[in-house]
Amino acid sequence: MRYLYFNTHMVIIGLGSNVGDRSAMLDKACEALSLILHDMRCSQRMETAALLPENAPAEWDIPFLNMAVCGTTTLSPQALCEKTQHIEQKLGRIKRGMWGPREIDIDILAMGETVFVSDNLTVPHKALLNRDFALKPLAELVPDWRYPVPGEWFGKTAREIATQ
Ligand code: AMP
Repeated sequence: MRYLYFNTHMVIIGLGSNVGDRSAMLDKACEALSLILHDMRCSQRMETAALLPENAPAEWDIPFLNMAVCGTTTLSPQALCEKTQHIEQKLGRIKRGMWGPREIDIDILAMGETVFVSDNLTVPHKALLNRDFALKPLAELVPDWRYPVPGEWFGKTAREIATQ
């Protein structure tokens, strides 16, 4: 008998869209993510103002529709990121720079207790603590998830962080 062991991570992924039919885009992204996550659940959707630097073109000021999904996976953070970037491309995301409008944005918000930092990927997401549009849906889906990064917020639950 041969046994195979996998590390299963609980994953929370943030989604946003502010170009075209935002709702349809989130539907398509959820459908694609449901093929790579087990037991996927979706948060409510919320409309949020675009985060923009002061000198951003006025036409970039388009509200987002945001949500999050959670589920489990045996993929590594990097392998999951490759898959989510592939989904962004397949759904027709056009690169317009860091603050530009986006057909679809898919961010890995957290992977259980994992703290992962490389040149092109940081998990939990670097901006998670500063973004209500990510924290609120995350707290709705996994209120008891604890922030795993050492520092001021270490060990606080998503519910506690989202209400502070
Ligand atoms: P964005 O334009 O917001 O989609 O950012 C994409 C870039 O952020 C890619 O180069 C990713 O490798 C990088 N990145 C870093 N951390 C994360 C994360 N937690 N989830 C998704 N992308 C990330």
